[in-house]
Amino acid sequence: MGATRAMELLHTSGGRLSKASWSGLLSPKPSSHHLTKREDALRDLFLAAQKEVTLPDTTLSRLAVVKEESTGLLLCGGRFQIFNEEKTAVPILPCTSWVSTLLAQEAHKANHEEIAGTLLRMRRKAWVVRGRKLAQKIVDNCVTCRRLRARRCQQIMSDLPSERITPANPFEYTTVDLFGPYEVKDEVRKKVKLKVWGIVFCCMASRAMHTDLVSDQSAEGFLLAYQRFTALRGHPRKFLGSALGTIFTGAPTGSA
Ligand SMILES: [Zn+2]
Repeated sequence: MGATRAMELLHTSGGRLSKASWSGLLSPKPSSHHLTKREDALRDLFLAAQKEVTLPDTTLSRLAVVKEESTGLLLCGGRFQIFNEEKTAVPILPCTSWVSTLLAQEAHKANHEEIAGTLLRMRRKAWVVRGRKLAQKIVDNCVTCRRLRARRCQQIMSDLPSERITPANPFEYTTVDLFGPYEVKDEVRKKVKLKVWGIVFCCMASRAMHTDLVSDQSAEGFLLAYQRFTALRGHPRKFLGSALGTIFTGAPTGSA
């Protein structure tokens, strides 16, 4: 029955099976009612593949190949120390046959493993002579694995500004930024909740920090915090970085 099935498929496709037809034979679903027929067909395909190429005697003896009496299929136990024909023997296949390629593709697509993992899965169904080379070819040509192995772009950081690397007095070159808002209770009206922002002045040379609170994001609120900052640290020579935000653009006008 299996031979008939395989021959039918071969004849209907002009001797060359489509990919879907081969995959159907190689991946029988356990729930299928035609499981036995497909296994027979798969055995016939293995037989046909074995007849395509004459394997050298050295390979046959090294892999302890035996012929199955009922079907004539060449089976090998691989390099297992304890050779058990009933449990571990699998058909031996040449790497040039199309069935071997399909087996390798199926084994690799199961989990997209590297060469060793793909080879191990292949050997559950058949021992492919020079299978490592075939597995490597399948892994190298897999589009999914190519995407996963693709080199990621590396971002190049820009140079530090000169103020960061030039020795200077504390807060001579300063950056400023806001963080928040935070919800707080009013000091007088305890039930009223207000929003406040933290303001941070950072010395570019020493990375020292000066923090304060502002009640809103207006220029007046910033100038009050700035006055408290300059009373303690002195006037910075230059403001840099995040101080250019839109909320501070009105501050020079307000201080004039
Ligand atoms: Zn892959």
